[in-house]
Amino acid sequence: MKNFKKLNLTFQILISTFISITIGSLINYFSPPDWFFKFIVHGVLEIGGTLFLSSLKLVVIPLIFVSLVVGVSSLKSVSQLGRIGAKSLSLFLFTTFMAISLSLTLASMMNFNNSDFHMEKTLNSYTPPPSPSLIEVISKIFPSNPIKSMAEGETLQVIIFAILFGYALTVTPRTGKPLIEFFNNLNQVLLDLIVFLIQFSPIGVFCLLTKTFSTQGVGVILPLGQYFLTVTVTLLIHCLIFYGLILKVTSGISPFVFFKKFYKVSLFAFSTSSSNSTIPINLNVTQNELGVSKNISSFTIPLGATINMDGTAIMQGVATIFISQVYNIDLSFLDLALVVVTATLASIGTAGVPGVGLVMLAMVLQQVNLPVEGIGLIIGIDRLLDMMRTAVNVTGDSIVTLIVAKSEKEWDEESFYSK
Ligand code: ASP
Repeated sequence: MKNFKKLNLTFQILISTFISITIGSLINYFSPPDWFFKFIVHGVLEIGGTLFLSSLKLVVIPLIFVSLVVGVSSLKSVSQLGRIGAKSLSLFLFTTFMAISLSLTLASMMNFNNSDFHMEKTLNSYTPPPSPSLIEVISKIFPSNPIKSMAEGETLQVIIFAILFGYALTVTPRTGKPLIEFFNNLNQVLLDLIVFLIQFSPIGVFCLLTKTFSTQGVGVILPLGQYFLTVTVTLLIHCLIFYGLILKVTSGISPFVFFKKFYKVSLFAFSTSSSNSTIPINLNVTQNELGVSKNISSFTIPLGATINMDGTAIMQGVATIFISQVYNIDLSFLDLALVVVTATLASIGTAGVPGVGLVMLAMVLQQVNLPVEGIGLIIGIDRLLDMMRTAVNVTGDSIVTLIVAKSEKEWDEESFYSK
């Protein structure tokens, strides 16, 4: 995105990330007086972070709706929509399947029972909020009242309504045409609004991360070091090696250039812990810097942010093995297969907002009769892991988008490789 470059925003966001993690960790280490936490951490920083998040969220639903209507109405045919849908859905499912399989394999090699943490302290201290059943997850996909769906931020329902609406515009040429033009203009206005709002991101990232690290501190990692490390290493392998390979092998696109251009989106996901809030930035970078056409990205990025959660699936896989080992409950091969299926489906039902992956973990644990209270053991460090897995979640969305775009000849090589 040219505006990113002009303002050198990427660099500013990177610096802001490092400074805020350092300052936050120092605040936590030196535990300043209560008034400091009250007025600075839970006052100034919290307000700054909340305003920044709201400014991102504010464009999410209008942007998904408008850009998808524009995307669908400019497709060559309905069959192209069907093809894009089928390709992206199967790739989303495949990458999640690989993510959960990798995490189960790596976690099974660990011996978590050696972890030096105090189980008694955390046990029973967690009562999981009810996680939706699979039937509920599936039946909630179709909207009955689009205005309600928008007001409640039901992304998947908004996506479906936008596709139907965009399609209807193309089959009613006389009245549809001026409306398509209207939506095109509206889309441009929303994109300009994002560019304006993004300018505040170094400050927003600073507020969010300083607050998180001053209240969490990196010390919480220590008692659960093995678990933390296993999730982190699996996330890194999946993101750098698997995504890199699948991009290169299926479409010949350079993963190095991809990561070099994409890392700013990951930083956003890291600081907000929300795939949903990252949609505007991801769309912008994928379209303007990675060379993907609007037709494809306006569909796959919001869809991916809603149903594709490879990072979350990785956490759920490691957590399942961790809890089974700590409680000395053996999981059969069939149980593991069930975890793969349930975690893949859970990822569809996980909303792209902070912490939901942990709620959906309850659904996975229940499938294989593991104690849901086990979540209490890992909840303390989930905030930090949430940041990392969200960064992986959004990377997966963009990788799939690139692969689909290349196969549909909707990818501009020149703009991808340009500086
Ligand atoms: N925070 C994640 C996301 O927005 C979801 C989760 O794993 O909790 O992608």
